[in-house]
Amino acid sequence: MEKVRVRFAPSPTGYLHLGSARTALFNWLYARHTGGKFVLRVEDTDKERSKKEYLDEILKDLKWIGLSWDEGPFFQSQRLNLYREAADKILKKGLAYKEGEAIIYKVPHGKIIKIDDLVHGEMQFNTDEIKDQVLMKSDGSAAYNFACVVDDADMNITHIIRGDDHISNTPKQIMFYQAMGLGQPKFAHMPLMMGKDGAKLSKRHGGVAVFEYRKEGFLPEPLANYLLLLGWLPKDGRELISLAQAAEEFDIKDINKVQVKFDIDKLKWFNGEYIRSKTIKDLYPLIKEQLDNAGIKSENMDEQRLKKIIDLYKVRIKTLTEFVQLTDYFFKDDYKIDEKGKRKYLDKNGNKENIKKFSDKLKNLKDFSCENIEKICRDIEREENLKASNIIHPTRMAVSGKTKGAGLFEIMELLGKEKILERMQKVIS
Ligand code: GLU
Repeated sequence: MEKVRVRFAPSPTGYLHLGSARTALFNWLYARHTGGKFVLRVEDTDKERSKKEYLDEILKDLKWIGLSWDEGPFFQSQRLNLYREAADKILKKGLAYKEGEAIIYKVPHGKIIKIDDLVHGEMQFNTDEIKDQVLMKSDGSAAYNFACVVDDADMNITHIIRGDDHISNTPKQIMFYQAMGLGQPKFAHMPLMMGKDGAKLSKRHGGVAVFEYRKEGFLPEPLANYLLLLGWLPKDGRELISLAQAAEEFDIKDINKVQVKFDIDKLKWFNGEYIRSKTIKDLYPLIKEQLDNAGIKSENMDEQRLKKIIDLYKVRIKTLTEFVQLTDYFFKDDYKIDEKGKRKYLDKNGNKENIKKFSDKLKNLKDFSCENIEKICRDIEREENLKASNIIHPTRMAVSGKTKGAGLFEIMELLGKEKILERMQKVIS
């Protein structure tokens, strides 16, 4: 059997789009599944729009989601001679003509071009509906469809896995293989990934570029996991699956044939699951980076303390940025206050008095441990015949500015006696 060779061919004219990342992922899966090669080719023929900064980001994001390539990156901008030679050959065969400097392929009339697509089955195109095709433009650059074919042939690509948006290019490309007298690769066009509402994926669905998700505190594993389910499902229907495991089980013929919808909430669920499954040690550098990005100086922060905060919150967050929002009161005094919660718990009669009773007793507490703090709270409940919620909720508001969070007594211990008394005092007076 021939060795499988697949490729991912991004154009560095923008950041790595989620849809492109999914395409890359499936090519990678197929290469790994078959023991074949995954080639990276940069389609940078558009000089105006191709940017180094985009390329750098694309490579970084591919690595980030866990995809490694075996060959490349190759750059189309460095392969112009190859395209010119191939076009000249077609010209010499009489299958193309010149228009000034441009070389144009003459599409034959009345021919049927068939694609035996590995996902969609047979598709037919009548050449009468295709106009003559530019191979080389008058500025000396190669046209996309042509450069793509010359490269795929030169790189011995066996399977082309890409989005449905390229289906209309495929009959043209097949004609070029035929014009060059070359056998053609197999094609697998994947149904596109749309937004939840069925519209083209856009910013309002939660972002279109991989780097936006990285910045928003998504982890690469759940992103890759979710993207791969938007095109394929393991036979036993399980949803949480690693890339390595997916590579073992995946096959092209099982690619989903219908359009799929990207749902940010589903992705958040995956992200939360992966965060929970990570150790504190693994989460520590990731969270630290998020804090740094948010301008929260974590370099002086005690590692043990931050790890304890992570331990309290890792079950409560779906993204790493949520951690930063939910725990701001640990790192600064001008933390965000939930105004509605404040009105509900602090402006209510008697609640401030309860905080005062609690704080008065805490003043004498030597060992400010979570157990001791709780004991004091329970004592007041009993002695004063108070409902626990009338002490706990107001106190939580007073020390964290929030109505929800990790266990109150645990966060009090971590904030420390001095900070707690200061914040309680501020509310009372
Ligand atoms: N450069 C093309 C794109 O980014 C790739 C086309 C292909 O996979 O054949 O859409």
